[in-house]
Amino acid sequence: MSGGTKRIVNRECGRCSEAEGLDHCHGTLILHTDGSAECTDELCVREIEARHQLIVDCADLIEGCGCAEWLAEAYSRAS
Ligand SMILES: [Zn+2]
Ligand SMILES: [Zn+2]
Ligand SMILES: [Zn+2]
Repeated sequence: MSGGTKRIVNRECGRCSEAEGLDHCHGTLILHTDGSAECTDELCVREIEARHQLIVDCADLIEGCGCAEWLAEAYSRAS
């Protein structure tokens, strides 16, 4: 906490520079295998794909997700 923190502006976000009222989120939307979605931005109000530019599968998360484990288990049983 130095007090001089610069607010990082995402220049690559076209939606910010466009119409002000355009509802979108800069968080990363995580799609779970059960069909639910989760956003890394805790202020995110609606966790839907249309509001997000960054969308990842929870199986691709470095830290992993409970879903992926469940899926692996399901696959191992399938055969
Ligand atoms: Zn933006
Ligand atoms: Zn998951
Ligand atoms: Zn979000």
